[in-house]
Amino acid sequence: MALFSAFSSDAGVVLFALAGARRRRTWTKAVTAFACAFVCLGAEAIEMSNRYRSPRNPERRVRTSTRLIVLHTTEAPARSSLNKVSDRGECHYCVTESGQVYAIVDRDREAFHAGRSMWQGAEDVDKFSVGIECVGYHDKAMPQPQIAAIRDLVRELKAMYRIQDHCVVCHSHVAYGAPNRWHKVKHRGRKRCGMLFAMPSVRRQLGLTSRPAFDPDTRAGRLVNADEYLRRVLYGGVDTMTAVYGARPPPTISAAPRAPAVAKKPVAPAPKPTPKPTPKPASTPKPVSKPATKASVAVATPPRSVAELKARGYVDCGTVTKERTAIKIAGAAWKSSQTYYTIRDKVIPGSNLDQAHIEKGMHVWMRK
Ligand SMILES: [Zn+2]
Repeated sequence: MALFSAFSSDAGVVLFALAGARRRRTWTKAVTAFACAFVCLGAEAIEMSNRYRSPRNPERRVRTSTRLIVLHTTEAPARSSLNKVSDRGECHYCVTESGQVYAIVDRDREAFHAGRSMWQGAEDVDKFSVGIECVGYHDKAMPQPQIAAIRDLVRELKAMYRIQDHCVVCHSHVAYGAPNRWHKVKHRGRKRCGMLFAMPSVRRQLGLTSRPAFDPDTRAGRLVNADEYLRRVLYGGVDTMTAVYGARPPPTISAAPRAPAVAKKPVAPAPKPTPKPTPKPASTPKPVSKPATKASVAVATPPRSVAELKARGYVDCGTVTKERTAIKIAGAAWKSSQTYYTIRDKVIPGSNLDQAHIEKGMHVWMRK
C-alpha cells in the first residue's frame, strides 16, 4: 500500500494513512494518499508519535519480505521500555497502556526484536517480520485502550502485508535457545515474551480468529520443546485471561475509529486488568490452577494404574525411544511430579526419576 505521512502541527505526531497499492511511493501516489489522509481519516489512519524514533533507523537494512507480525511484551514500565527500544532499535512500534502508538523503526526496515529465532525452518525472524512491543507483562492482562490500539495497528499491518491471522505470533512462538547445560540441543522455550497474545480470549479482543495450530520447528525435529507450560499456552487449552476478557465479544469497531477514540469512549467500561493474583511464572512453572476437581483432591494418592491416569485426565503423550527422549516429549516438565511414566504396569512420577532411569518403551503421561 502506498503510504503517506504528514507531520501535524503538534510536532512529533505523525498520521499514517494507508491506501492504494503496496509500498509504492511515487509523487502521484503520495498526492493521492495525501487526499486520502483527510478523506479516510476515520477509517484508515492510526495516529502515532515520532517522539521515540530510533537513532538506529538509518543504519537498518530494508526487509525483502514480511511474513509475520510478532507481538512482544516489554516486561517493564512505559518510560524505560520506550527508551530501551528506541536506543537499540528493537521494534517497529511500541504501544503503551493508554493506547498511544510510537513509531520506532521504519516498518520496512529490519528491527532487532526477535533475537535468536526460527519459524518454519527459517532463522532470524527479524528478516521477515514486523515487531510490535506492547508495554506490559507476558502473564498480565492489558487495559482496554491498549488492546484496542494493538488491534487497530495489527489490522492495518495485516492488510498492508497480506498477513493472515495465524501469522500474527508472539515472540515466544519464534524464539529458541542455543544448547546449554540443561538442554543439550536447540530448544523452544527461551522466552515467554508476548505469551498472552496466544491465548484465545486475548486474540478475540485483537480481532484474530486463528493462531498457529502447532510448532512447525519442534514438529519437524529442528528444535525440542523445553517449556511445557508455554507449549500449552501457545497451542493447548491454557488461557489465563478468561477471567478478565471472558467470552465477551470485542467492542464493536465497525466504523474503525482510531484506537484512542475507542479507548476514550465512556460507553463500555474497560474491564480492570489483572484482578487475579496470578503468581509470576518462575523458572519451574506450575500448571494453571484449576477449580478443585477429583484430580486435585486426589493429589495425596498418586495414580497407580493407566486406568487411573486416564480417569484423572492424563493422556499418553508418547513413548520414549532412542531419538525421542523424555525431554523431547515432556519438555521442561519431564521431571515434574505432574508428569507420569508407565512401564510394565508401573506408574512412576517424573519427580522420582532421573535421566539414567528412564527406559526405552516408557510411556509419558501428562494432563492436557
Ligand atoms: Zn520479545
